[in-house]
Amino acid sequence: MPRLRKSLKILVAAGFLLWIADGYLLMRSESPRPAPDPAAGTATTTGPGATTEPGTTTGPGGGARYSGAIHMHSTYSDGGGSVEDIVRAGQNAGPDFLVLTDHDTMQPLIDGHQGYHDGLLLLVGEEVNTSAGHLLSLGVGRDVSQDGPLGLPALVEEISESGGVSIAAHPTGRRPWTDWTLEEMDGLEVLNGNSEWRDDGVLELVRALVFLPFMPDEVFNSLVDRPDEAIRLWMHRAQRQPVTVIGSLDAHERIKLWGERHLSFPTYERMFGLIRTYVITGTELTGDAEVDEEILLNAIHRGSCYVVLEGYEPAPGFSFELTMGPETLSMGSSVEYQNGGRLHVTAPSSGPVRIRLYRDEVPLIETEGHELFVEVPGPGVYHTEVYQLRRTLLRGERQRLWIISNAIRVE
Ligand SMILES: [Zn+2]
Ligand SMILES: [Zn+2]
Repeated sequence: MPRLRKSLKILVAAGFLLWIADGYLLMRSESPRPAPDPAAGTATTTGPGATTEPGTTTGPGGGARYSGAIHMHSTYSDGGGSVEDIVRAGQNAGPDFLVLTDHDTMQPLIDGHQGYHDGLLLLVGEEVNTSAGHLLSLGVGRDVSQDGPLGLPALVEEISESGGVSIAAHPTGRRPWTDWTLEEMDGLEVLNGNSEWRDDGVLELVRALVFLPFMPDEVFNSLVDRPDEAIRLWMHRAQRQPVTVIGSLDAHERIKLWGERHLSFPTYERMFGLIRTYVITGTELTGDAEVDEEILLNAIHRGSCYVVLEGYEPAPGFSFELTMGPETLSMGSSVEYQNGGRLHVTAPSSGPVRIRLYRDEVPLIETEGHELFVEVPGPGVYHTEVYQLRRTLLRGERQRLWIISNAIRVE
C-alpha cells in the first residue's frame, strides 16, 4: 500500500513538472521580437511632436502611418487611473495617439484633456450604453445618447451626421453587440483586449498566472487568439457594405475586488503594448489636435487601418494593396472587378511569418514569407492575416496571429 501511494505521488509530481515545462516552452514561443530594422525597409521616421521618437512612418505605397491605442477608461468612468496616469503610460509605451472612451461622458473633453501632451495626441471619445450593446462614438465633440424617441437608429445617424465614427465595442464579449441592421454604423472591434482572455480555458488561465511574474509579455501575448466569431460577423456585414475593423484595448487598469477595493491590473502601459491600430493617413499630422483628430478619424472611417498584436513585434512596414489598371488601392477601398488585377501583401518582420489571404470568409492562398502577390480571381471582400511562426520543443511549429488588415472590396 505505501508503495502504491509513493508511486502515485511520483506520478502526480512528474505530471505537474511536465505541465510546467510545457507551459514554459509554450510561453517562450510567445516572446516579443525586436522591431524590424527600418533601414532594411522603406520606413523612415519623423514626426509632428519633435520631442518624442515615434511619429510619422512613411510606409510602402506612400501615406503616413500612426499607431494608436484605442478604447480606454479613466476615473471619469470605471477606470482605475486619471487622464494624467493614462498620458504618462502612453508616453512610456510609445503609440502616436490614444483614444479615451469613458462610459457615457464627454467630460474629459470639456475639461480640456484632448490635445498633444509632449508629442502624444490624446483624443476624447465616448463609449455609449445602448439597447444593442456598447458603441464607441468618436469625433462627435459632444455627449450623445440613445434617449430620444427614435432610439438607436437616431443615435447612430447623429454620430454619422456630426462627422463622427461609430464602432460596435466588444461585439462578441460578455456584453455582445446585437443589432447589425444599422446601416450607418461604421465598424466593429475585431479585437478587444479586455474580452480576449475570457475565452481561454481555466487551466490555460491558471498556467498564465503561474508565469505572469516571470514572463509578463509572453503571458499577455498568449491570451489573444484569432477572433473567429468577430471576423465572421465582420465578413457577414461586409457582404452588404464597407465595414471598418479596429483593434481595441478596453483598458481599465482596475479589477474590482470587494466593496471599494480594487486591483490596479492590468496596467495601461501593459495594455498599450498589446494591441494597436495602425492608421494610414493621406497627409501627415500637423501638430494641431483638432485637425489631426479629423485626419485620423477620416482614415479610420474609410477603413484605412490595420490591427497589430504589438506584443509580438511592431508592424510599421505592413501593406495590403490592390493594383488594377493604372490604379493602386489600399485597405478600405472599393473597386469594380477587371481582369488582371493583383493583390499584394508585404509584412516585414525580423522572423518567419505566414501570410494568409482571405476572399470573403474563406482562405484563398497562403505563403511562408514576407511578401505575397496574387491575381484577383473575381469579385469578393479580400482581407489578409499575418501569423508569426514560432517553434516549440514539444508541440512543433505554432502560428500566432500578428496582423489583421482591413478589407479591399472588389465588386
Ligand atoms: Zn464596453
Ligand atoms: Zn470599454
